[in-house]
Amino acid sequence: MGMPHRRPEPASLGICVYNRCMPDTIFIKIIRGEIPSHKVYEDEHVFAFLDISPLSAGHTLVIPKEAKATLGELSDESAAAIGRVLPRLCRAVMKATGASAYNILQNNGAAAHQAVMHVHFHIIPKLDNAGLGISWKSTAFDHAKGAELAKSIAASVQ
Ligand code: AMP
Repeated sequence: MGMPHRRPEPASLGICVYNRCMPDTIFIKIIRGEIPSHKVYEDEHVFAFLDISPLSAGHTLVIPKEAKATLGELSDESAAAIGRVLPRLCRAVMKATGASAYNILQNNGAAAHQAVMHVHFHIIPKLDNAGLGISWKSTAFDHAKGAELAKSIAASVQ
């Protein structure tokens, strides 16, 4: 079978794998400069800009240039590039806003509140009462099930 066949496609059709074409997301259009953004950083693999509906001043989105919907689909190259720059961008956002606390939010899938299907990390400064509100409903830990799950996850890491 080999690698999925990629053919040149019109810009409006976004990514095509086999015969399935995904429409461009708004973030791809931002990277291309077709939609304006308040850019704060760009390199070969990464783009960062202010969120248009900020939870607090300085709310920033960090995205790979690679057009993938969820984090698990990213290439090692994109993942490494994001990992390298994310802490630097966190420091810059904190410095510019004067915040001393912040959240990183990264949603994957509509059921997990992802609205734009292009990988993105939110950097959300905590400023007074503004920032990310979290409802954290923890449950009791079952050690027998936990041991099984840990084994199963460990066996699936590639
Ligand atoms: P998520 O729910 O994790 O998919 O978040 C998507 C984020 O993208 C939201 O916080 C939106 O406010 C933000 N967003 C959507 N369109 C734009 C845009 N044109 N410029 C900047 N941020 C945007």
